[in-house]
Formats: sequence, C-alpha cells, structure tokens
Amino acid sequence: MSEPEIRNLHDIPAAELPAALAPLVDAPFRARQVARWLHDRGAASIDEMTDLSLGMRESLSTRFTASLPGIEQRTDPAPDGSEKFLFRLADGSKIEAVYMPMGERTTICLSSQAGCAVGCTFCVTGFFGAGRNLTPAEITGQVHRIRREREIPWERLNLVLMGMGEPLLNLENVIPALDSLYPNVAPRRITLSTSGIIPGIEELGRLERRPNLAVSINAPDGRRREEIMPITKKYPLPDLIESLRRYPLEKGREITAEYVLLQGWNDSPRDAETLARLLRGLRVKVNAIPFNPDPNLPAWMKRPSDAAIDRFAAALAENRIPVTVRRSRGDQIAAACGQLRGKNESKVRGERDPKSL
Ligand code: SAH
Ligand code: SF4
Repeated sequence: MSEPEIRNLHDIPAAELPAALAPLVDAPFRARQVARWLHDRGAASIDEMTDLSLGMRESLSTRFTASLPGIEQRTDPAPDGSEKFLFRLADGSKIEAVYMPMGERTTICLSSQAGCAVGCTFCVTGFFGAGRNLTPAEITGQVHRIRREREIPWERLNLVLMGMGEPLLNLENVIPALDSLYPNVAPRRITLSTSGIIPGIEELGRLERRPNLAVSINAPDGRRREEIMPITKKYPLPDLIESLRRYPLEKGREITAEYVLLQGWNDSPRDAETLARLLRGLRVKVNAIPFNPDPNLPAWMKRPSDAAIDRFAAALAENRIPVTVRRSRGDQIAAACGQLRGKNESKVRGERDPKSL
C-alpha cells in the first residue's frame, strides 16, 4: 500500500478541519485548538501547538504538517517602511508579497498565482507568463509569515489581493483562503483586484461573504484596453461594465476602478471624461496608479508627470467621479506587482498557456 499523503493543515478549509482531525485527536474541542494555532497565530509547525500533548502532536504529524512559505529574500525597508518579501514555495516557485505600514493601519499585498496567464503588456508578472495556482496555505501563509516577522495586530491589518496573479482564475483556492482569514480580518478589510474575469465576478457576487472588489479598467475605451489587456477580447469592456452594474454591493461599499496612467496614452483630461462616462451610474471610485516602469516592459510606456496626473484626477473629479492617486513609495511597490521576482528571473519570457484563461 502506498504511504498516505501528508497534508498541510493550512490547506484544509476551516469547516473541514474537525472531520479531518477527528481520527487523530481525543476530543472535538481539539479542532478549535488547532484552528487557533493555524488561523490566529499562523503556526509554522505542529510542534508549536504546545497545548496539545506530545503524543497528540506526534500522531498529527503522521498525517499532517503545518508549514508556511519560506522567505527567500526581502528588500530593505523603503523610506515609508514598506518592504517586499520574496517567498520560495515547496516546488521552488517564487512569489512575492508587500508589507506596507500606513500609520495606524498596515496593508499586506498578496499573490494568488505564481505568475499570470492574462498577459497585460504593462505588467511584469504578465511578461513572465503563466504560473500555477497557489494553494490556500500558500495564500494565507504570506500573511502569517509577514505577521510573524512584523508582529502586526490583526485589528490593524488590511489585505489586498493585488500581487502576482489573477485571483478570479484561482477562486477554488482563494475562497478557502479568505474563509480562514475572515475570523481575523473582516471581508470589508480585504480587497480583491481583478483584470475583469466576468464569470469570476459573478461567482464572487454569489458568495455570502465577499471582499471588496477592485477592477483594473486601465483604459477609457475597449479599443485601447484591448491593446494593453488582451483579455478584453474574451471579456469585452461593455460586458465587464454590465457585470459591475449587476454586482451586489453591500451598504457603504463601492467598487474600485483601477486605472494605470500611461504618459500620453490614457492620461489626458479628455480620457478622464471618457472614463467618467464609462463609469457613470456605478457606485465606484477610481484609483489612479501612475505606471511603474521596468526594463522588461515596453519602452514607450512612461509614468506621466505629476502635473499631468493632477490634471487627470481633477478632470475626473469635475465629472463627479471620486478619485485617489497612489503616490507613496509603498503604494508604488504594490502596484508594480511581480517586479522583485522579475529581477531574479532569467530574461527568457515564459510561455503563456491560453487554455488556462
Ligand atoms: N491580476 C489582478 C491583480 C494583480 S495586478 C489585476 O490585474 O487587477 C494589481 C494592479 O497592479 C492592477 O490594477 C494592475 O493594473 C496594476 N499594475 C500592474 N503592473 C503595473 C505597472 N507596471 N505599473 C502600475 N500598475 C501596475
Ligand atoms: Fe495578470 Fe493583473 Fe498583471 Fe494583468 S495586471 S498580467 S491580470 S497580474
């Protein structure tokens, strides 16, 4: 008979934990103890679970581990305190997350895939091509690992799924990951960013507990959007906007429309007016993200001047669309998803697997 598979406890959906543990523990309350170690304290091993007897920990270890991604590298803190963490996963894949202290609150930007098949032309993750889906343990493990390093109280933490990958192409793992985070980080403290995968938006809309939704719009019209986001061919911009109109928003919530500003391409006051018309009637705010350049990205793509960014934001505001601009260094680090990994990667472009879209 083959050896039973050893599973990472962090991969087991919270609701299934009692049944998974039942054969190995002496009482049902043990599942709650183990869940506290996993989800509240981010245990990196079964040995840490010191309120279980040594015998029980040994018996759990015959079937399970409790492991977190290892830190391969981290950048020195930026002037605002933000740091990028590069993680190495069990199969050697590299992913990154960003830690951003912001006064009373701290935001962690998480990856959902070890690459991205969507292939937006302004994005380093897209440049390197598709990568596998992260497991729930690999998604929540980024949070637990950084919390262990930086001792961030749960009450101060916001999470954004804006790192590497397209979270709506990995909902099967993102949903259980969110479920095990919710007891400590409320859904309204979590934002999921998508390139506009309509069936994924619909699936998200059917969930009982939903994170905030951010959608990368990035261009004022479909023709231009298709140039930098080929996914627009599959999910056309008008259909995407329709799906946002149907999206069930809780009271007090709004959709964030992300908009990467490219100099001379989508940053004029006229572009702002066109964008305002596109978004009219949606409960939406725009988050303008000045383009973050990288040697792997097309040379024509440039960050607009501060004056142009201000003019764009003012034109949106005049058209009654609320707008924020990401300016701090930490926010730029977050926007430039995949760039730390980019520096470690060979210059050979990865193949994209169109089937995974
Ligand atoms: N795949 C999801 C989430 C990850 S990308 C999505 O596309 O929304 C997170 C954000 O980073 C997106 O809004 C994307 O438009 C932005 N982004 C990617 N590369 C960037 C760059 N070089 N400069 C500025 N923003 C960038
Ligand atoms: Fe993928 Fe988002 Fe980058 Fe586009 S912007 S390639 S969807 S990670």
